[in-house]
Amino acid sequence: MIIAIVRELADTRVAATPETVKKYVGLGHSVVVETGAGLASAVPDAAYVDAGATIAASRAAALSQGDIVLAVRAPDEAAIAEMKEGAVLVAQLAPYQNTTFPALAAKKVSAFAMELLPRTTRAQSMDVLSSQNNIAGYKAVLLATHYYPRFMPMLMTAAGTVKPARVLIMGVGVAGLQAIATAKRLGAVVEATDVRPSTKEQVESLGGKFIEVPMTDEEKAANDGVYAKEMSDDYKRRQAELVAKHAKAADIIITTALIPGRPAPRLIGEEVVAAMKPGSVIIDIAAEAGGNCALTRAGEVVQTDNGVTVVGLANLPGMVAADASALYSKNLLTFLSLMLSKEGFKLDLEDELIAATLVTHQGEVRFGK
Ligand code: NAD
Repeated sequence: MIIAIVRELADTRVAATPETVKKYVGLGHSVVVETGAGLASAVPDAAYVDAGATIAASRAAALSQGDIVLAVRAPDEAAIAEMKEGAVLVAQLAPYQNTTFPALAAKKVSAFAMELLPRTTRAQSMDVLSSQNNIAGYKAVLLATHYYPRFMPMLMTAAGTVKPARVLIMGVGVAGLQAIATAKRLGAVVEATDVRPSTKEQVESLGGKFIEVPMTDEEKAANDGVYAKEMSDDYKRRQAELVAKHAKAADIIITTALIPGRPAPRLIGEEVVAAMKPGSVIIDIAAEAGGNCALTRAGEVVQTDNGVTVVGLANLPGMVAADASALYSKNLLTFLSLMLSKEGFKLDLEDELIAATLVTHQGEVRFGK
């Protein structure tokens, strides 16, 4: 099989590193890398060549050879047109927003959307949401230090004492937990909240204080899974009241709350931002999914009249491109090893991980069916 790696048009990350290329080559497959694909992730063409890959001079040259195409983001219609009929595609296809599945199906592409991987123990080492959100949580705190006009830790100096920053984390999934750990390491005082009651223990084990929104037994039971559910209007009102109180006291708020397949829940209204202190910062990791804060603008940094900075910059993992690519590439290698071996490629629809992620196959769109 020939595995093609493309240079991403809208991302700094890349879907294979020299380390994973060596593994594919070791299994007896060929790897072709579009020139410059790894540059933004600190991997020059020469490193791919040393690992056993060949370099394609253009995107079309790479795609037209690929029996398997590995990418970070979904290809557009032009790229799909350049792919081989019947190729395999593995990428983050943003399945709930993607409009190109009919084009992929028409090309008989077997396309895998990595975001749809079940959150099971067996799938953990392939989970791109975990590997990338972990980086987003880390980078969010470092971005906050950039926009926040004060110190993070408490400092006692001859010129006076500096108070530690108060950081509020909303949404304690993979990104939120890493944000708590990173903010703690920098010496901040950290509070966090989530709709899933099981996160309380995790927050406390990292040295954070859990803000508990009062919940009915029914609400607790509905949220004891790995993913959050859309909450009732009554819960949202209780949460908003509590959040408003803690947001006023916070110097930095990092929001990460997501609900798969739905717009991000609105957790911080305009009136809450208006009550925040001048100099305070909101980093909205959910910006690309519509934002947790009413004032977030995806891809932008907004300065409010009362001196609050609302950061909606997109693709935080892409700001740590080298490590994000290394982890993403390993996720893909482990996932592909379900199907790819020395004997070739075998797609087993009985495997729950394959069945859950396969969005187009044999000319059909499977997603949503
Ligand atoms: P996510 O990115 O979907 O959401 C981030 C967090 O936002 C979640 O904790 C969610 O509960 C929270 N949230 C949603 N709506 C909210 C609201 N209205 N108010 C406050 N918080 C809200 O989550 P994720 O980071 O992908 O992780 C979800 C869970 O999956 C975690 O428990 C994680 O440990 C688990 N997980 C399991 C595996 C595995 O076993 N393979 C892999 C990764 C994650």
